[in-house]
Amino acid sequence: MSDKIERIKTLIIGSGPAGYTAAIYASRADLKPVMYTGLEPGGQLTTTTEVDNFPGYADGVDGPKMMMDLQKQAERFGTEVRMGMVTEVEFSDKAGGIHKACVDNSKWVEAETIIISTGATAKYLGLPSEQRLRGGGVSACAVCDGFFYKGQDVAIVGGGDTAAEEATYLANICNKVTMLVRGDQMRASKAMQHRVTSTKNIDLRYNTEVDEVIGEQVVEGLRMLNKETGEKEQIDITGLFIAIGHKPNTDIFKDKLTMDDTGYLITEGKSTKTNIPGVFASGDVQDKIYRQAVTAAGTGCMAALDAERYLAVVESEEGEEVKTTKKVEA
Ligand code: NDP
Repeated sequence: MSDKIERIKTLIIGSGPAGYTAAIYASRADLKPVMYTGLEPGGQLTTTTEVDNFPGYADGVDGPKMMMDLQKQAERFGTEVRMGMVTEVEFSDKAGGIHKACVDNSKWVEAETIIISTGATAKYLGLPSEQRLRGGGVSACAVCDGFFYKGQDVAIVGGGDTAAEEATYLANICNKVTMLVRGDQMRASKAMQHRVTSTKNIDLRYNTEVDEVIGEQVVEGLRMLNKETGEKEQIDITGLFIAIGHKPNTDIFKDKLTMDDTGYLITEGKSTKTNIPGVFASGDVQDKIYRQAVTAAGTGCMAALDAERYLAVVESEEGEEVKTTKKVEA
């Protein structure tokens, strides 16, 4: 077997809407992308059922089906999609430098440019009843799934900006929203807190945790625990939304790329450029605010365009250098 390390022009890490959109644009621009899918090919959308808010699917689409469509579209233009998890990276900090990525702790590849679209993972409470009912009424995305609970009673857990925003979003659609905040105050901005407290059909409960989600196949109710009084109370609900934060999948980039204090990659201005030349970030891994499939896809497109421009500049500079060297030699 040869020890020669494979050189890839454009390496895409991660296979959600951002990664696939980057792949579609990169392959059409002849950047010869190779994508490593990660452990959950298709990303967060493969754990969703119906996607109703992605433009172009008039009748909605199954999350996994949409990701298969995106994969086919990327492959149609020549993207090579490979199963595998990038477990380590070594970046060059010089423009035009070659980056390295290790796949499945075993095989190193080299890349001229890298697009990171490793996404983020929604946090869950970890209760067995919650895990059992994921997809059966337990969701981590009110904007994606809230519509299915139109006119019904639901609950939401969390006290940050996401929970506050999602609670008011749900309050517009649902009959009643019970909001469980584990401490005696919300972490959300004052403006968002005001929106919650001034919305009539949000029943805000402080010092309250989920004791158990009730229901066998689908959510039928919620048993809550008031931590101050120790009292338990059961309510009837059909949907439970968990909004206690996300964890960006950036562990392998720690100390290698600039991130904020919660681990989200920081990109430059309105671009997808990271602090390393030739390394770009798109999708939820660099967006803690919008987190939608369509916004992830948009930044995936931007990353491919940024990568294309980067390679064009590097290649033209290399061409200039070769010309200058030849002149000097002659
Ligand atoms: P945050 O980390 O800000 O908040 C998480 C919330 O969940 C906190 O209230 C926390 O409680 C609670 N929580 C955590 N773990 C548990 C648990 N096991 N059980 C019960 N409650 C729990 O996450 P967000 O997703 O809300 O926000 C992430 C970032 O994105 C923030 O910086 C936020 O400002 C930003 N954002 C901005 C938006 C905007 O500008 N429009 C919209 C959405 C997010 P505790 O406070 O007790 O730790």
